[in-house]
Order: sequence, then structure tokens, then C-alpha cells
Amino acid sequence: MRIAGLLLAMSPLVFAGADVQALVNQQEPSLFAVYKDLHEHPELSQHEEKTSAFMAGELRKAGYTVTEHVGRYADGSGALGVVCVLKNGDGPVVLVRTELDALPVEEKTGLPYASRNPGVMHACGHDLHMTSLLGTARVLASLKDQWSGTLLLIAQPAEETIGGAKAMLADGMYSRFPKPDFAIALHDTPGLAVGQVGVTAGPLLASSTSVDVIIRGLGGHGAHPEATKDPVVMAAEFVMALQTVVSRQISPLDPAVVTVGSIHGGTKHNIIPDEVKLQLTVRAFREEVRKKILTDIDRTARGVALAAGVPEDRAPIVAVSATEAVPATVNDPQLAARLKRVFVAVLGAANVVDAGPEMASEDFGLFGLDGQIPVFMFRLGATDPARLEESRRTGVPLPSLHSSLFYPVPEPAIRTGVLATVAAVLDLMHK
Ligand SMILES: [Zn+2]
Ligand SMILES: [Zn+2]
Repeated sequence: MRIAGLLLAMSPLVFAGADVQALVNQQEPSLFAVYKDLHEHPELSQHEEKTSAFMAGELRKAGYTVTEHVGRYADGSGALGVVCVLKNGDGPVVLVRTELDALPVEEKTGLPYASRNPGVMHACGHDLHMTSLLGTARVLASLKDQWSGTLLLIAQPAEETIGGAKAMLADGMYSRFPKPDFAIALHDTPGLAVGQVGVTAGPLLASSTSVDVIIRGLGGHGAHPEATKDPVVMAAEFVMALQTVVSRQISPLDPAVVTVGSIHGGTKHNIIPDEVKLQLTVRAFREEVRKKILTDIDRTARGVALAAGVPEDRAPIVAVSATEAVPATVNDPQLAARLKRVFVAVLGAANVVDAGPEMASEDFGLFGLDGQIPVFMFRLGATDPARLEESRRTGVPLPSLHSSLFYPVPEPAIRTGVLATVAAVLDLMHK
């Protein structure tokens, strides 16, 4: 058993190679059409009605038992998760996940298949992930004689607002459907060339926590600052003081970020307002570091108010969001090493890159139930190698994910996504 697994890990397509390549070739035109359709019709987080129905329909056609409307958000409203099961004898349960949602971004790529929904765009490539999942589903359904176990394909809503994975789990996903032994996913990246994948063992993506701060003062006339406690000045001091949280309070060996993404206060030139509101995001890998930063933010806000002489009943309000928070995503090192060998065998060593961690965040890690289930997310190259080369030469960065100008090259990114995912699943579920 071990030997068979090892052999397969070294060359995962030994038994299925020709079939897989041929099946992917056969799927390519129809997958490209699906991609263009999804890209033209993006839907925002928690509003993925058409997208989820489309995916459910396609996966049903591919032979899966499909359940729609899986998920319940913290406020009790229903989510649009899709769970697809294909049972094929004894063996492990493997979960493969895609996201469904797009972003509130006005697309400016000028692509012939650009978004037709004004102000909404698949700027994170979730359309690419859906297409890859669909290709994977079709190929694996035609290769049932080459794997054994249960395939659990899920289409998750609301990744961008960090609520979808939690909502699906809260709706009994692991009791209503088979609980996975492995959970895998991919995410596109403009930093790698199409045809390549990036593998990270261990910490992959940081935890993310949203924090809302209200700096309260005592408003008044702009000409009489002495008769006020000016929250605008305090907010400015607070923003600058926050810059030393990571650089002075946290060890240089612990990656962390505190970003103030929004600041609003006041109504008019000559009025000192009563309060200023700020929205922060906190990123870290270790839970202790995250907790320390949150304490530091609270203390810094209070310290600024204290120095300004703000009375205690007008102390700043620091609210850490319970819903907009997600733990770090940590790839299982053994699973990462195993699937890296698989990727090397199917894509060639030159197309498998060791990638480092990033301070971005994801809720995919939640499907691992805090280390109970090994999870693995790999990066899928999305950029034309010539553009990547030019960017390296000129030093002009390429549009990042979430940019109105970001676009992946769907061919051959879809093909690579399908090949890599199929190879990974075949390795994990080999007969
Ligand atoms: Zn995103
Ligand atoms: Zn994304």
C-alpha cells in the first residue's frame, strides 16, 4: 500500500497520464466558454444567486449529487454554498473548494469578456477557480476506475467578506456530508507565470482581524480649539502612533501588519467634530501576536486620549469584530511535500515553485478544523511570462489581485489548475 502510494506520488499519472491529458484537452474549449461567461457575470459576496445555481447545474450534469443553499451566516440568513458529492467505493474523503464571489470593483481591463455588471468584477480570479473546479469534476467523473473514495467538491460563497466557510460549517457541512480526510484548494496569483504553480509548506496566509475605532473628543468652533478636545488631531496622532506597534512592540521575527484603511470625521471647515471613526485591519501569523497587537491598539488609543485630556466618559471605543476575523491558513507540511512531488511529476520541476507566505488572508483554513484535517492551498500562475519578465525588468509592478486592471490568462491557467488538482486528487485517492 505504502509502496504503491510512493510510486504514484513520484509519478501520479503513470496509470492515468494519457487519459488525463486527453480529457483536459477535450474539456478546454467548453471550460474557456464557462470562464468567459462567469467573468462577464460576477456577483458580490452573499449575492451569488446565479453563480451558485450555474455551478450546481453544471456539477449535477457532471454526475455529482448536488445540494444547494448550504450555509448560515452569523445573522441567521441563508448562504448560497454548494456541496457536491461523488461516492466511488472505499477510501479517503477529499474536499476540493472553490469560491463563488466577486468584488465591488469597476473593471478596467478592456477585455472582450469584461464584466457586464457595473461596479462588480471577478478581480480575485474566483471565476478561474470555479472553472478549474468544474474541469476537475468532469475529468474525475470520467476516471472513476482510477480512484476510490469520496470526492467532496464545494463552491463557497462570501470568501471576500470572510463569512462563507464559517457559514457552511455552521450549517452542519461536516455532519450532513462526509467529513474530509484532506482539504485542498488553489488560488491564482499574478506573481507566477501561467503554467506554473507555487507550493508553500506550513504558514501560507496570515490571520485577519477587523477593528473599528471611534476617537471621541469634545467638538466646538474651529476658531476656539482651546474650548474643545479635537478628535481630528487625536486621530492623526493615533494613526502615527500605530506605526510603531509593529516596529517597536512586536518582535522583528514575527510578521505583522496594522493598516488604517478608512478614516472619517467632521462635516465642515470651521467645526471641530465630536468624533472620528477609523477602520483597521490587523494581520499576523501567531495568535499571541494577534492578541498583543489588539491590546496595543486599545492602549495606544486610550493613551492618545489621556494625553489630550479627554474625560474618561469620552474615552475611545475600540471594537474588535467577531465576524470579520479569520485565523491564519497553515498548509499541512506533509501534505504539501507529497503534493509538490505530484505537481513536479505532472507539470515538470521548472513549473513548480517554492513560494513563501503572504500577509493576505483566506477562510479556506477553517475547513481544517484547527489542525484536525490537513489542508493545502497552492498558488496558480496567472500571468503571461512576457509581461512578468517586462515587469521584472522595468520594476513596474503588475496589477495585483483586487485591482480593476488584474486579469489572468485563462489559457493555459485553467488547464494547469485542472491538471494539478486532478493529479493531487488521484494521488490522494489512488486505488
Ligand atoms: Zn480576494
Ligand atoms: Zn480570492
